[in-house]
Amino acid sequence: MTKNPLPHLAKRLAILTTAMLLLNCGLAAERKTENLILITLDGVRYQELFGGLDLEILKATIKDGKLEDTKAYKRFWADTPKERREKLMPFFWGEWMQRHGSVAGNPQKGSSVRLANRLLFSYPSYSEILTGQARDDLITSNDKVLNPNPTVLEFLRRKLGLPQKQVAAFASWDVIGVAVQHEAGAVFTNAGYEAYAHPDPAIQSMSRLQFETLTPWDTVRHDEYTFRFAMAHLKTHRPRVFYLSLGETDDWAHEKRYDRVLAAIARNDSIFSELWNWLQADAQYRNKTTLLITTDHGRGDIALNWHSHNAQIRDAKNTWLAVISPDSPLRGEWTGGEPVVMDQIAATLCRFVGLDYSEQNPKTGKPIARLFEK
Ligand SMILES: [Zn+2]
Repeated sequence: MTKNPLPHLAKRLAILTTAMLLLNCGLAAERKTENLILITLDGVRYQELFGGLDLEILKATIKDGKLEDTKAYKRFWADTPKERREKLMPFFWGEWMQRHGSVAGNPQKGSSVRLANRLLFSYPSYSEILTGQARDDLITSNDKVLNPNPTVLEFLRRKLGLPQKQVAAFASWDVIGVAVQHEAGAVFTNAGYEAYAHPDPAIQSMSRLQFETLTPWDTVRHDEYTFRFAMAHLKTHRPRVFYLSLGETDDWAHEKRYDRVLAAIARNDSIFSELWNWLQADAQYRNKTTLLITTDHGRGDIALNWHSHNAQIRDAKNTWLAVISPDSPLRGEWTGGEPVVMDQIAATLCRFVGLDYSEQNPKTGKPIARLFEK
């Protein structure tokens, strides 16, 4: 036995500290994510994502003629939910879910993703996603006002030391332009009917055309414009944190145009494919980009209320979340497990780049642990 145990203890502590530092460096070196992309599809139900065309709803929404003669039926109907969803979103269920990512929220598989807020409409739910803050009741309407809480996009810009154009949000709905930030100008935004300045003459022409090809809604432009401007921005400014917010799916549903909802979801799938092929052909983004794809809320679950969502429609709290990441080994559909809560998304995004979001918001939901299990 040694007379003085302290030097031994100090030595052991030093060895332990060195080992922990090495382990930390090892984890940081293993992490591949350098870019983050968040995508939201407004009000897309888990029922369509996991099961494709819902025949009861299509039946309830056709005005005249035979069901089998409708475009939607011909294009999207098949006998099993698996075949139907693959007809609706072939890229998502093929390339993404088979080779690069996973998706939570199919109740048929015992997986649940849900909102913590009780309002179940857009701004409170986008704010839950963007701030990790769900129940302070500061946002109770869809009014176009700056977010009362700082957002994860602002946190990421500060922590990663990025210029404004490298933390960008492109949105079809104008309110997203303010929902993404607590301080005006903290994030580069282009949202709703808004001109987008770019040297490419094709983009200039589209920027003008958006005002000539109106949707039925004053605050939501066609997703196609949003996506074209988003791609132009990606290519030119090469953001490390990017948010693409698509909106038509929700508004066609409020119009009870189920055929248009399905067509919009299918178009979103083409957008995923084009975006992914571009990312994977680019050295800055290829295998270094984590994408989180989700929706702001669900909707009703029967032909009577499928088009709507609010605090009285219970199923509207159920959502879904897909994660495509070089740092998450999960593939395909999640089965079972703890419910995922939407207030965990902000912290999860940060975790992918090694940051702790609770530094900004101590009340945030925690990163989704299952994504990081090896
Ligand atoms: Zn809505």
